[in-house]
Amino acid sequence: MEAKIKSTERPIHFPFLDLKAQFASIRDETIAAITRVMESQQFILGEEVQALEQEMAAWIGVREAVGCASGTAALELGLQVIGIGQGDEVITTPYTFVATAGAIARQGARPVFVDIDPATFNIDPAQIEPAVTRRTRAVIPVHLFGLPADLNPILEVARRHRLAVIEDAAQAIGAEYKGKRVGSFGILGCFSFFPSKNLGGAGDGGMITTQDRDLASRLRQLRVHGSREKYRYEFLGTNSRLDALQAAILRVKLRHLSEWTERRREAASRYQKLFAHYRLEEITLPSAPPDRTHVYNQFVIRCPRRDELRDFLSSRGIPSEIYYPSPLHLQPAFADLNYHEGDFPQAEAASKETLALPIYPELREEHQDAAIKAIAEFYKLS
Ligand SMILES: *Cc1c(COP(=O)(O)O)cnc(C)c1O
Repeated sequence: MEAKIKSTERPIHFPFLDLKAQFASIRDETIAAITRVMESQQFILGEEVQALEQEMAAWIGVREAVGCASGTAALELGLQVIGIGQGDEVITTPYTFVATAGAIARQGARPVFVDIDPATFNIDPAQIEPAVTRRTRAVIPVHLFGLPADLNPILEVARRHRLAVIEDAAQAIGAEYKGKRVGSFGILGCFSFFPSKNLGGAGDGGMITTQDRDLASRLRQLRVHGSREKYRYEFLGTNSRLDALQAAILRVKLRHLSEWTERRREAASRYQKLFAHYRLEEITLPSAPPDRTHVYNQFVIRCPRRDELRDFLSSRGIPSEIYYPSPLHLQPAFADLNYHEGDFPQAEAASKETLALPIYPELREEHQDAAIKAIAEFYKLS
C-alpha cells in the first residue's frame, strides 16, 4: 500500500462515521431481511433472534449467546444473573463508557476503580489485586476501543480470589487475545449493537455470551420478566429483549463483519504509515501487543495540545471525537463513591490527551490523507 499524500485544494468535509456508505453496500440484502420479518409479523424474539444467537455463539466461539435490549442491558442482566447486588464490590476501569460502572451501581453494588495501563488504555491488571476486599465479587475488564484487555493476569487474580470476570466487549467484537475471540474468556461477555459499534443494528440491541448453559437459560428467563412458562414468575426479571427486525439486520451484517474488520485494520495501518511519513513524533499511535488483535472501533491517538488540535482539525473540515473527556471517578453521577482528582492519574491524563480520528471500513484514502496533512500542518505551524 502506497502511503503518499495527494494534495487537496478544496477544504474537505467528511463524516466521523459513514453508516450511509455501509448501508449502500448491503442495501438489497438488508431490505430483503426486513421484508422477511414484516411478512412474518413476528417481532419479539422468535426465530430470527434464535438464529442470530446461534450464529453469533459460533462466531465468537462459545456455547451460548443471549440477545437483549442493549449493551447496557447485557451488563445489567449479567451482573444480576450471577447475583451481584447490595454490599458487593465490582472492580473496573474509570476510563470507559458510563454504562460499565453504571450497570454495577444500578445493581446496588459499588464500582471500585483501578487505573489503566497508559500503553493500552485498558485496566492495569497489576492494580486489581490491591483493590480486592472481602466484599469484592467480580471484575469487569473493558476491551476499550477494540483492543482486548490483558486477560490472562486478570483471570489469574480472579481465580485466586474467586471473582467472576465479566468482559465488557461492547467495542471489541471479533478482537482476539492469544488466538481466541473476546467474549469467550469471562463467565460472561457483553456486547452492544449500538449503531456505531463494529456490528451495529438499526437501533439498540445487545448480546451476552457464555459457555455456561445454565446461566444462559436463566438469562433467557430474566429478559422476559423471570418467566419460563407463561404467566409464572420464579424470580423477577425485566423486559430486555432483542427484536426480530434487529436480529434479521444483524444477521446480514454479521456475514460481512470479518471483511469489515479487515478493512478497519488496513485503515489503521495506513494511518501508521502516514504518521511515519510526516515524522509526527509528538503523537503516540494505538498499537496492539503481539498476543492480541485490535479491531479499531476507534483509532485513538495521544497528542499534546489536544483541544487546540481538535479545533484546528474542525476548521479544516476534519471530524474527530474525544473518548472520554472525563474519567468516570470524576463524574457527578459517581460523586458518592468519594473519589478525587489525582486518584487515577493515567486515566485522567488519557482523558486530556486522547483524540479519536475517523476509522471505518468505507473510510476513503483521500480523507485519511487530509486528516494527517492537517495534523502535520498544526504541529509544524505551531
Ligand atoms: C457502547 C458501550 C456500552 C453500552 O452499550 P449500549 O448498547 O449503548 O447500551 C457499554 N460499554 C462500552 C464500553 C460501550 O462502548
